[in-house]
Amino acid sequence: MRARTFERVAKSLIELENLNKSYSGGGGSLHVLHDVNLRIDEGELVSIMGSSGSGKSTLLNILGILDGYDSGRYTLDGTLIQDLSERRAALFRNRFIGFVFQSFNLLPFKTALENVALPLYYQGVARRQRQRLAAEYLERVGLADRAEHLPGELSGGQKQRVAVARALITKPRLVLADEPTGALDSQTSYQLMDLLEQINAEGITIVIVTHEADIAARTRRKIELRDGQVVAQ
Ligand code: ADP
Ligand code: MG
Repeated sequence: MRARTFERVAKSLIELENLNKSYSGGGGSLHVLHDVNLRIDEGELVSIMGSSGSGKSTLLNILGILDGYDSGRYTLDGTLIQDLSERRAALFRNRFIGFVFQSFNLLPFKTALENVALPLYYQGVARRQRQRLAAEYLERVGLADRAEHLPGELSGGQKQRVAVARALITKPRLVLADEPTGALDSQTSYQLMDLLEQINAEGITIVIVTHEADIAARTRRKIELRDGQVVAQ
């Protein structure tokens, strides 16, 4: 009898083929990403590890269509991401991707609720609907009772939860987080990872850039960048 093999049929969401990126300026050029090959499947929770300066943020910004690349190919959900107009790039980002940053990037004079609702404003969603959804997402991250507070009145962990709610409110398929625990203490970091795990369990693909081994250990796959090259994945 012939052996039958069963393979998990996974759909790739992100594919990078021989991707290269350099920065020029100051009379020279800095080759930051060297022939990066990478595949991330829909539903994965992965970390990108590497020391400071290894190109992690550069890679994440390219994945988030916040920056371009010089050569190679980046395919996102079957679409080649290359030379997009700013308008098309913005459409793709708004519909598809949620971002979380180390420094939270909340607007200081807007309440938690208003910060979470902001992406819907850019999508032209009516005010009442924006507020209803923002309240729902704040509740999901455990901050219903902080809705009317300004960011300055929240702890670091609470600010990052607001940022996560803001990233989720457009129902993205991909969340990109650049050092999301970089400004948090260990216990608060683990709580944030619990939240990101929950979100991933609901089917959202999550890519976390970190240089902290204990944070990477909480993801299902570690991708290691060294001097702009993927050395392990
Ligand atoms: P990481 O996030 O791993 O610390 P980065 O991707 O931020 O690394 O940076 C990789 C390298 O590229 C560093 O040497 C950094 O100084 C350089 N770099 C990053 N952004 C720019 C830029 N906009 N212009 C020029 N050099 C940059
Ligand atoms: Mg960085």
